[in-house]
Amino acid sequence: MALDFSFSPEHEAVRDMVRRFAQEKMAPLVNEAEENEVFPRELFRQWGELGLLGVRYPQADGGSGMDKLADCIIREEMSVVCQAFASSWSAHTHLGIWPIWRAGTPEQKERFFRPALTGHKISAFGLSEPDGGSNIRALRTRAVKVEGGWRLTGSKLYITNAPIADFMLVAARTDPALTMDAISLFIVELPNPGFVITKLKKESVRSSETGLIHIDDAFVPDDCLLGARTGTYPVILDSLAENRVGVAANALGMARAAFEAASRYANDRLVAGKRIGDYQAIGHKLADMAADIEAARWLVYHGAWQVDQGTLDSAMASKVKLVASETAVRVSENAIRILGGAGIMREYPVGRIHRDTLLYVIGEGTSEIQRNIIARSLGFKS
Ligand SMILES: Cc1cc2nc3c(=O)[nH]c(=O)nc-3n(C[C@H](O)[C@H](O)[C@H](O)COP(=O)(O)OP(=O)(O)OC[C@H]3O[C@@H](n4cnc5c(N)ncnc54)[C@H](O)[C@@H]3O)c2cc1C
Repeated sequence: MALDFSFSPEHEAVRDMVRRFAQEKMAPLVNEAEENEVFPRELFRQWGELGLLGVRYPQADGGSGMDKLADCIIREEMSVVCQAFASSWSAHTHLGIWPIWRAGTPEQKERFFRPALTGHKISAFGLSEPDGGSNIRALRTRAVKVEGGWRLTGSKLYITNAPIADFMLVAARTDPALTMDAISLFIVELPNPGFVITKLKKESVRSSETGLIHIDDAFVPDDCLLGARTGTYPVILDSLAENRVGVAANALGMARAAFEAASRYANDRLVAGKRIGDYQAIGHKLADMAADIEAARWLVYHGAWQVDQGTLDSAMASKVKLVASETAVRVSENAIRILGGAGIMREYPVGRIHRDTLLYVIGEGTSEIQRNIIARSLGFKS
């Protein structure tokens, strides 16, 4: 079979559309949103109207019927303009609703999934806890069966979109006697009197709103349990693996944005009568950045292609995320160095981009956790 490394005309059309939208509609919102640390909610409706919230889902389920390649193209283009917006988009279009699409009843899909595709409802995904970020199996939030529903108690930490969400998937244990893998998901409509959500102040992706959640004896009705009572762990793991490829595409977009800003600057800035890019030290930095980005790009899109073929395994997902996220950190740090003092100034985007790249060497599983997964696939204990 011949290898074909080109994107289809349909994929190129998606890229052009999203690039235009991101430049025309998202870019003007960035400075104010980042300054105030407030997500511009109107974006969800606009994304919904363009079909950008249901990219990965079949048309029969209300989605746009595109594939993971398209999803990654969209992420890359959004992240070039603003990672915070792209993070909120990612938490919503993937983490918050993919499990409902995979495991939800027709009623749950009608009530939560479909309004999420149009941007009428915003979702969040509550898995991480104060004692269980890297180690999902340390999860302690409890769900106790009561007449007509469940009572949830526990806490969730660093949950994207929590302060603006209309509903949240909440991971909890229904029975401590079951195995450590018996983690269930509940779809919780917000506000809920048992949920206290505190917005956190962040250094990275400032306008993507993030919450700490205290859950105190919160009642949720029976029809809010997603999938089996004994847990939806495989769905959670599949969701995380696929989204690692997704966020790698976000990292690629940030790396590209930093590189583009640095090469523009290297071309415009004269020192001692010479473009700084013509100094070998700077030219070589740019060369390394360009090569790193190219390598990350093909790994990301190969991972996306594997998702579409149904052949992605968790080790490959971790390799894709590890390489792309670490590339974005390296490239954006070099971009700051190339800009010199200007790299530290808010007038230029590279400082923000570098702060934002740090999100994905932590969120969705740290680089150390990705290395553990890869090492285990090589037969080592890690
Ligand atoms: C901005 C932001 C948004 C987020 N959004 C969400 C969200 O929407 N939903 C959600 O559920 N979670 C979300 N998270 C949580 C994120 O997934 C966790 O922060 C991440 O998994 C790391 O967990 P932790 O912060 O508890 O770090 P810890 O688990 O405390 O790790 C601290 C350090 O120890 C290292 N470490 C831990 N265990 C091991 C080990 N076994 N081997 C080697 N090193 C190890 C880690 O790599 C890290 O360097 C978000 C986080 C951030 C920062």
